[in-house]
Order: sequence, then structure tokens, then C-alpha cells
Amino acid sequence: LFFLCWAATIHAEYLKYKDPSQPVEVRVNDLLSRMTLAEKIGQMTQIERENASDQVLTDYFIGSILSGGGSVPAPRASAKDWMNMINQFQSACLSTRLGIPMIYGIDAVHGHNNVYNATIFPHNVGLGATRDPDLVKRIGIATALEVRATGIPYAFAPCIAVCRDPRWGRCYESYSEDHSIVQAMTQVILGLQGDLPANYTKNFPYVSGKNNVAACAKHFVGDGGTQNGINENNTIIDLKGLLSIHMPAYYDAIAKGVSTVMVSYSSWNGVKMHANRHLVNNFLKRKLGFQGFVISDWQGIDRITSPPDANYTYSVQMSINAGIDMVMVPFDYAGFINTLTSLVKKKVISMNRIDDAVRRILRVKFVMGLFENPLPDFSLADQIGKEEHRELAREAVRKSLVLLKNGKDSHKPLLPLSKKAGKILVAGSHADNLGYQCGGWTIEWQGSSGRITGGTTILEAIRSTVDPSTSVVFSENPDADFVKSNHFSYAIVVVGEPPYAETAGDSLNLTIPEPGPTTIRTVCGVVKCVVVVVSGRPVVIEPYLSVMDALVAAWLPGSEGQGVADVLYGDYGFTGKLPRTWFKSVEQLPMNVGDKNYDPLFPFGYGLTTKPNLGHR
Ligand code: BGC
Repeated sequence: LFFLCWAATIHAEYLKYKDPSQPVEVRVNDLLSRMTLAEKIGQMTQIERENASDQVLTDYFIGSILSGGGSVPAPRASAKDWMNMINQFQSACLSTRLGIPMIYGIDAVHGHNNVYNATIFPHNVGLGATRDPDLVKRIGIATALEVRATGIPYAFAPCIAVCRDPRWGRCYESYSEDHSIVQAMTQVILGLQGDLPANYTKNFPYVSGKNNVAACAKHFVGDGGTQNGINENNTIIDLKGLLSIHMPAYYDAIAKGVSTVMVSYSSWNGVKMHANRHLVNNFLKRKLGFQGFVISDWQGIDRITSPPDANYTYSVQMSINAGIDMVMVPFDYAGFINTLTSLVKKKVISMNRIDDAVRRILRVKFVMGLFENPLPDFSLADQIGKEEHRELAREAVRKSLVLLKNGKDSHKPLLPLSKKAGKILVAGSHADNLGYQCGGWTIEWQGSSGRITGGTTILEAIRSTVDPSTSVVFSENPDADFVKSNHFSYAIVVVGEPPYAETAGDSLNLTIPEPGPTTIRTVCGVVKCVVVVVSGRPVVIEPYLSVMDALVAAWLPGSEGQGVADVLYGDYGFTGKLPRTWFKSVEQLPMNVGDKNYDPLFPFGYGLTTKPNLGHR
């Protein structure tokens, strides 16, 4: 008996890092002191879901896994499928010698957008139009819950880019061209991670509880300032400009306890951000005092291509020494781990640097309670796409709409529309297309067309809003004779950009593709019309502006098209304000508020208002 008790005591050796009553830093240091180099480097390694076999996770002590782009366990995977997957990965990681939980990350950038039937909120550009940081915080709370409902504790959001050129394919991921709006919208971090406690330690990562997720401010820094809006390109700006336009939102994000920061693919004045020790290590970490971890972008370190003889070893050396703590590898984990290991053994990368990286990663994991609650909470499964969240998304859509024109010549305003209108026409490529309405980063990385997930199209919303006596005729691209012969009271034309993400969205002409312009001209040439533009950014509109009776910018509203009908029909008023300058022609670009020779079609901040028509609610 004595022997058994003795053996049991040995077995249950007190491990300080496993004791939640110990301060976070004590736990971090205790765990760090027990780790081998291989275990440390494993923590710094993030791999793609499809590589995460039990053997890889345990052999390499992998610290993090991701679903990049639209990488899902199965098409239409349910919350439970996701949780089962995470559960298996996590169980493998917990079975290692020290039992360090992995942290799973995903791009939940407008709701939990990879997940079938999740609530899809408007993309950030639309949220910028609301000028409502509290709304954005509530969206953060809802998003965190839906992300947790799949067992995931980490979202690669928010994107706090200040997009200075709408030709950039990621412009819709940016709240505004104006940094002060982006700063205000960092409020979303408090929604994702939870409100800071009274005893909050300045600059520390913070995640409140099991219904919150670690956030990621991205992409550090200057991603929205690249030349000609070319994705991942060079941002040419002096230090003063960088600090006054692109950096301020990071001050706010850090002050709100953001847990992680993702480095930008772009360069600053010719130096790749992934190799920029001055800005990552010296500025972000030392000067601003950021205590969370810095993550690379997807294969971000591989894109360090200068000097001309740069190779992978050089990339690993430069990026880790620049201050990157976790590398989104995401495939050749063995290559990364071997390279980093030999650089440490050769002392090209110091043990201090490795310890700094691992300390930051562990800090986030301890702070968020991952050691105590590493496994998915299956009771949250019913949070995905729940009614309350869809209501919130609908509210966001209503507030994001910007009314740019209402009434032609001396005619009276067309909006709000009348619910009893005999016969009306709904036209356009984007009227009945949920995929188009959601844009990129929805189910698939690039987004797609049609009924890709749950939600309501704008056409469906119009049908359910009008009086039963009103007949709604839908024709995607009608000809003039059809429009004439039908004697419609008015028409709603919904056109815009097809979905895109990242570089695929870079555009030099910013035109609405055909048949959009033809539909506008044909329909508006015959009948009174309101044009609703569904796009990630201002597009060329001046050539057709005069034929329209009314014009609404709807941005990329997401799954709740009902919000558009709510405002068109006056149940709510228009309140949105342009978060960006609406140019006349692309030759003017880049053109931002405050520029010399500012000559927009609609200035930054513009937006007509209408009063809600309380009578017919
Ligand atoms: C994007 C990031 C994203 C990452 C993971 C990259 O291509 O630039 O914003 O978080 O992929 O999907």
C-alpha cells in the first residue's frame, strides 16, 4: 500500500503551469523552463487542417492549426462536425509529454463565414458606413459565439487596414479610408475577446471566457496603402505618414487587449513587413509594448524574396529575427522546423528570441483559459446562425446603406417606396443572388454565386415586405419592350461586383461588369428606378447617374437581405454615411478626403437621410 501511494504521489507531481490559481506569468515561465527546443519550435508552428494528423501533431509538438481561406472539414459541415474535428486535433496535442493545447484559428471576418448557415454580417466597408462602434462590438460578441460554436477559440479578425485606394482587392475588408473610423471600430475587439476587467494589465492579451475568442489585428502595417492598390505590393510613405495613417488603429487595438497581430504581405518602402525588425520587434513590441503574439501571414515568410539570392533559410532567419512569433507555415512544417532548429543551433537565431516567441504564445493560451478548457463545448452548437444574430445582421445592413441620390431633376424623392404599388419590377444580377450579396470570404475563399448558405436575398426580402396586393415581377436583365409593356409603377435594379478576395479583386477599372450597366440603362430609361449597388467599394457610376431616380450603396450586406428592404420601404430611415470617397473616374485615384484637388462625385461622409415611415410599419 505504501508503495502504491508513493507511486501515485510521484505520478501526480505538482506542476505549477497547470495550476490556474498561479499568475499567468508564473505559469508561462514554469512551462517554458520544462520545454525542449523541439517543443518550443513546435509551439511556433501553425499548420493547415489537412496536414494535422495525430502523428504530425504529436511528433512535431504543433502549437497551432488553421483553416485558411475556405478550408472546411466537409462541405456543409455542421457545428458538431467542426467540434469533432477540433476535439480530435486537441486530444492528440494534449497527449504529448507536457500536454500543451493547440490553438485553432480561422478567418471569421464577417461572421463565421466559412461555416454553412452561420450569420453573415456586412463586410467591414459597410460597417464603416454605420459609424456605429457599439453595433460593431455587438457583432463581435455574436461572431465570437458562433466561432466558439464550432469549437474554435481564435479568429483572424479584425482587419484594421486603412484602405487608401479602392483598386485594392481587399478594400472591403477595411472600415474606411479615414483612420479615425478604423480606430473607433476596433471596438469589435471588445466584442470578440470580451470587456477588459478593472485590473487589466496594460498591453496584455485578454480573452474573457469560454464564449469569447482571441482576436487578431491585421495586417501590420500599411496593407491598405500599397501603390496603385496592388495587393501585397509596396507601401511608399514616409514614417510620419505611416504613423499618422496606418499605425493609429494598432494603438487602439493594443489598448483593447488584442491577443495577436498578423504581419502584412506588403512592404514598407521596399522592405517586406515579414522581414521588418524595426517595425515588428522594435516598434510594435518594444515601443508600443504589445505583449501578445505576432503571427505571420499564410506563407508570408516564403515571400521574402530579396536579396536575389534569398532562400528559405534566409526567410526563416529574417522573419524570426524580425520578431514573428508564430509562423503560418502552413504546409511544409518539417522544412520550417528543421530550418529554424538549425538556425538556433548555429546561434543565428538566439535562444532569447525563441523564448520570447514561445512566452507570448503560451501567455495567450493561458490568458484565454485554453489549458483549463481546451476542448469544444458541444452545448454551444445551436448558436450558429441563430435568430438573434440574424436580427443583429439585419440591423447592421439597415445602418450600412448609403443613400446617394433621391429624386431626378425637380421630381419628388422616390424613396421610401410605397408598399402598395400595383406592379413593380425587380431586376439585376445581384437581386436574387445570396453569394453575390455576401462577397468574398463566404463559404469559399473567393466567395461564389447563388444559394451558398442560409439567408434572404434582396428579392425575397422585397417580396415579403410589399403589400400582398403588389405584384413583384423579377427579370434579371429585361429588354426595353418588356419593361414598357408591363406598366410598372417603379423598378428596383440591383447590380454590382461579383465576389472576389485578395489579389483576385485588384481592379484597375472599377466598373460594374456587364450586363449591369445595360440593365440600369434599359430599365431606368423606361420606368422610375432605384439602383442598389452591391459592391466592396465605390465603382464607376457617373455615366449612368443621370438616368437613375435614386441610388443606394449597399456594400456587401451579407446573408440578411431583409435589411435592404426594411429601408427601401421606409420601415427604417437611411442613416449611413460614406466611409470612402466616391470618385468620378478612376484616373483620379488614389483620392482620399483631405487631399489637394479633392473633386469627388460624392465626398467622404456623404449620405442623404430619410425619415422612417412609421405609419406603415
Ligand atoms: C490572408 C489573411 C488570412 C490568411 C489565412 C491570407 O492569405 O492575407 O488575411 O488571415 O490568409 O487564411
